[in-house]
Amino acid sequence: MELINTHCHTGYNGHGEGTVEEYVNCAIAAGIKTLAFTDHYPLSQAMDPTTYVSVPVDKVDAYIDDVKAARLAHPEIEIIVGCELDYLGPDEDRTFKPGEFDRFELVLGSVHYVDAWPFDDPAQRGKWEEPGMPDVIWRRYFELWCDAVSDKKQPFHVMSHPDLAKKFNYYPTYDIAPLYRMAAEAAAESGRMIEVNTSGSYYACKEIFPAQDLLREFCRAGVPCTLGTDAHEPHLVARDIERGYRYMYEAGYRVVTVPTASGDRRTITIC
Ligand SMILES: [Zn+2]
Ligand SMILES: [Zn+2]
Repeated sequence: MELINTHCHTGYNGHGEGTVEEYVNCAIAAGIKTLAFTDHYPLSQAMDPTTYVSVPVDKVDAYIDDVKAARLAHPEIEIIVGCELDYLGPDEDRTFKPGEFDRFELVLGSVHYVDAWPFDDPAQRGKWEEPGMPDVIWRRYFELWCDAVSDKKQPFHVMSHPDLAKKFNYYPTYDIAPLYRMAAEAAAESGRMIEVNTSGSYYACKEIFPAQDLLREFCRAGVPCTLGTDAHEPHLVARDIERGYRYMYEAGYRVVTVPTASGDRRTITIC
């Protein structure tokens, strides 16, 4: 099957490694036909004081230029200029210029912060251990996720790793199914894509994002699904793509939806 990856991070993020060119070379060697670069859109100084999480503001133009140069140099692969944009809900402290996101052909929408706390940051993991916290965090996470996907003012094309709250393998004591249904309904209503993100298998949760039960809800609701490996190193650019396709098939999907650089979508039949 044709391989695609719509989610990866280079050394332009403080926590990523490798150049755009190294990624493209690894992707071509692996047989990938569409590759989206989705480095983290800048956060404020208050949210990301050391630019460990996101690309420094003064490096964004260089990042975009690098991706466009790689596209010119490698016509054999479709390269997409993208970014991953944090949804901060009521804690948003950035102001975006009109048309700010027009320079990106693909914008991933992500919830990594619950009430300004980066719940998936290993350095701040302790809060999960406090009594009752998983119950609180999971509910709040899905509220924010649904707000994000439903917000028409947001530039998101794809909602990344839809159940990122499971990353450290803490789960709520209640039944998650109603949260899954709420997420699937909100996503279907929005017309946005969701993503199967193969990096989940390598965290404590040891499971692709999203869980099969949630992916089935998305499929039943008719939500288009794409695939990203969320690589942070070039050699991981193609990790588990075919496994991700099979995972989608088991959930009921028969096609992978692929965003294009022109803003369209195409599909690949899963066989
Ligand atoms: Zn992310
Ligand atoms: Zn990412």
